[in-house]
Amino acid sequence: MECPACGSTRVYRSKSRGTLERSLHAILPIHFYRCHECNWRRMRFRKRALNIVIVSVLGLLFGFLLFELASPIIQLMLHLILS
Ligand SMILES: [Zn+2]
Repeated sequence: MECPACGSTRVYRSKSRGTLERSLHAILPIHFYRCHECNWRRMRFRKRALNIVIVSVLGLLFGFLLFELASPIIQLMLHLILS
């Protein structure tokens, strides 16, 4: 990984500092990175964890959409069967 500020490759994972960063780190799949050359600091999402989050959110959305689309049809079918 290269530092976007100074181009140095001395960018390493950094410990979360303070309550805000610690709670963010506890809740979200993120890591903090720091450049040892210029002290540039940034949080980044863990790639694999991010993929899992995206897939599950999309899956939920798709499932919900499908259910919403299908429910009038299901209701109609139930109505036809029961009446
Ligand atoms: Zn740097």
